[in-house]
Amino acid sequence: MHKSRTKPVPGEGNLDADILFIGEAPGRQEDLSGRPFVGQAGKLLETLLRGIGLRREEVFITNVVKCRPPNNRDPKEEEVRACSAHTQAIIKLIEPKVIVTLGNHSGKYVFSMLGGREWKGVSRMRGRIYELELRGIGEVLVIPTYHPAAALYNPKIRPALEKDFSLIAEARERIAKANENIAKGKPRSLLDFLKK
Ligand code: URA
Repeated sequence: MHKSRTKPVPGEGNLDADILFIGEAPGRQEDLSGRPFVGQAGKLLETLLRGIGLRREEVFITNVVKCRPPNNRDPKEEEVRACSAHTQAIIKLIEPKVIVTLGNHSGKYVFSMLGGREWKGVSRMRGRIYELELRGIGEVLVIPTYHPAAALYNPKIRPALEKDFSLIAEARERIAKANENIAKGKPRSLLDFLKK
């Protein structure tokens, strides 16, 4: 896809972020600017983030593929796999405590390709926080939800998306509490504290 793209869109945000968002693929606006989620779906993502007291600068945002698919078609599995070295490098660099997957392509990538877990589709998987051991990365909390663009096409999805974002807020509270316990010298790892 690098042949037909304008700019690559590797991702952007806070390199020390606790929370990493993984979307699907750059669209037209993203292809022109080289930045992820700057179109309509990005506006909704920012609104959802604001709803839980976060700004996009505080998190890191990337996609399973880093170039715009021609005519906005779905990314193919081989393309997701071809970008996986980049995606894994980003995850290792950020070391997020929480990964939020936006849509089916991202969920399938994180659960099946990295987590060795079955992906049953976003509507069956969403609505809870998973503790996954990701290949070459380690343990992380994963929150699968719909792609914001899905809620633009079908507004009935929006309440579920908002509910899933409240799980992100819950995960943040768990992180804050875990950090407090670690600061008090309690001898367990961060992820032990994050487990329910
Ligand atoms: N949709 C995505 O999945 N990613 C973007 O960067 C923009 C829209």
